[in-house]
Amino acid sequence: MLDRFLASWRLPAACIALLLMGVAVGTLVGATLSAVTLVALLEIVVLLSLFRHKTRPMLQSSASTRPEHDRLMTRTRRIASRLRDLRSAAGTLPDAVVLLDHSWHVRWFNHAAEDLLGLKRPRDRGRLIEDLLRNSELAGWLADGAREPLNDVTAPNHPNRHVTATLLPFGSRQRLLLARDTSHLTRLEQIRRDFVANVSHELRTPLTVIHGYLELLDPEDVPELAPVLDEMRAQSKRMGQIVEDLLTLSRLETQDHVADEQVQMVPLLASLRKEAEALSQGRHAVTLDIGTSYDVLGSPKDLHSAFSNLVSNAVRYTPTGGRIAIRWSATEDGARFAVQDSGFGIPAAHIARLTERFYRVSSSRSRDSGGTGLGLSIVKHVLNLHQARLSIESEPGKGSTFACVFGSERLLDGTRMQEVAGHHP
Ligand code: ADP
Repeated sequence: MLDRFLASWRLPAACIALLLMGVAVGTLVGATLSAVTLVALLEIVVLLSLFRHKTRPMLQSSASTRPEHDRLMTRTRRIASRLRDLRSAAGTLPDAVVLLDHSWHVRWFNHAAEDLLGLKRPRDRGRLIEDLLRNSELAGWLADGAREPLNDVTAPNHPNRHVTATLLPFGSRQRLLLARDTSHLTRLEQIRRDFVANVSHELRTPLTVIHGYLELLDPEDVPELAPVLDEMRAQSKRMGQIVEDLLTLSRLETQDHVADEQVQMVPLLASLRKEAEALSQGRHAVTLDIGTSYDVLGSPKDLHSAFSNLVSNAVRYTPTGGRIAIRWSATEDGARFAVQDSGFGIPAAHIARLTERFYRVSSSRSRDSGGTGLGLSIVKHVLNLHQARLSIESEPGKGSTFACVFGSERLLDGTRMQEVAGHHP
């Protein structure tokens, strides 16, 4: 049974196909396919050793029956040769592949692992992976358990190259470490960022000039053009807002941390309520509920901009007569800033994509209410920089709750304020 399975072409053929697809697809899916291939390869190794173990006595005892012995030998050789093929295919994969045993010792690695991760053969076989990747971001990630893939970190052996790494468990507490060179993607992303930032910057001055001249024109001079002038002013203001939002996003994207300032929540919340009332102009009932005295550690300007986007959305997407509640409350392990409205709501299918740039549920509704389609992207970036997350709950026709959830490390109560004051005299 076992020997028939091993002698069958199906499994090795499927492995080779997966391997080639993995290389060809060239994405994370590719990496996963390659990983699956390698796990299959390992399984074959285990099966083969079982097979050898089981068949050796058979081979010896059946030495008298020559044809049977020859047949088994031919099969064994064929399987061994396919195994060598698979192994050399895995060896030439462009992604770094390292097999680790249950105690994090290196069992095997391919050529790309030598190049990208700096492993050396045969020196590093059997050594602890953390020792080999010492002082790299990868080592810290492995030490923390590597539960999530690690994106875009400097390659241990190449300061100018970036890798994305994944750790896959298999077999009995063994692991497969995969690392892919993503330098070209990082470069493309950088080009995209620079392009958006430069275009926005270049558009700023001409727009300011156009806007300035439009303000100088008096509709009373040419009454028949008054509606045209109004529309031109509204559109130039909207373009100006899009450019400002794009510049804000570019700045947030290039930042990897925010200032650790004390953001005083009580005055901030009071000013958000005023903003909501000014935007609503009496069309909504706006309430403010402050349930905790925590302040936040972070950037006052960026947090104000994020919270204010949520408040402005609540006003813009809630019909006249609706309710808007702003709340600041403590949670089990942090605090939560929430804006709840009784507005149009959002169908579930859209929720996951709302923080993408220019993603809108209804373009006309967004445009009519003066939206740029960038507000929630800004919110997401600001929250990421504060290690906080955005939670969105919504029901069409009933309303939505957008909440910013902060962990306790970002909060300041009376005691922490003194500590922080001590660190920053
Ligand atoms: P916009 O400038 O278009 O409002 P945002 O990024 O702020 O851009 O929001 C993205 C989309 O999410 C909006 O176009 C709108 O469709 C939806 N949205 C955001 N907030 C709300 C809300 N409170 N109620 C209903 N829909 C909302």
